[in-house]
Amino acid sequence: MKKQLELLFRLQSIDSNIQRSETLQRQFEEEVKKLQAELDSEGQKSSDVKQEVDELVKKHREYEAVLKVLEDQKNKVQEKMMAIKTNKEYTAAQHEIASIDQSIGKQEDEIILTMDAIENAKELISGAEAALQQAQQRFDDKKKQAATELSNYLADIEKQKGERETLQQEIKPDMLRAYQQIFKARKGIAVVLADNEHCFGCSMKIPSQLYNEVVRGDQLHTCPHCRRILYVDRSAVDEGQQLACDQSG
Ligand SMILES: [Zn+2]
Repeated sequence: MKKQLELLFRLQSIDSNIQRSETLQRQFEEEVKKLQAELDSEGQKSSDVKQEVDELVKKHREYEAVLKVLEDQKNKVQEKMMAIKTNKEYTAAQHEIASIDQSIGKQEDEIILTMDAIENAKELISGAEAALQQAQQRFDDKKKQAATELSNYLADIEKQKGERETLQQEIKPDMLRAYQQIFKARKGIAVVLADNEHCFGCSMKIPSQLYNEVVRGDQLHTCPHCRRILYVDRSAVDEGQQLACDQSG
């Protein structure tokens, strides 16, 4: 019986490890997903700001082209003025030049504004690229961690799962059934340590007589409070007895 309880305790420890590993793996996947979302968002920001610069550069080129057309127009009017004979025609040409100058002034203002906007957006590009690089680094680091630490850990868990198979064959069917029922009902903890007349599953006191029976380990006992299988760590008990013998002797 002692051996059976020991096997159950080992089974519990493996099951707890498996549960922990599943939680850890889930957390890990969530972190990777979060970092992936961050990376996507930084990538989007970076490409948005680059697109903004491209559009501004295009606008700038268009303004320059319009400016060139206006300047050509102005030159033509000025050439025409050389040949003008009447005051009326001269005044009309002057009006025309004034109007073109106004348009040129507007285009020049637009060009200055666009160039400022391009400068500003270019500064944003370097910021966005740095942020993108950092996000990529965080993502890569997490992936690297998955490839090393996590996969080593999971490989060990796989080994434990193998051991679990063997254990299950060594445990008597009725014991295994009891374990499985409590495991299900008690959120994955079916076997708990008992020490010093206390249950480690619920921290409650165990009646002395029951505790002594648990220590003897001749039978399967459950905690009267949390209904979990009680287990006394034999190595600690034996050591204690050894110590007591040594002291008395
Ligand atoms: Zn308990």
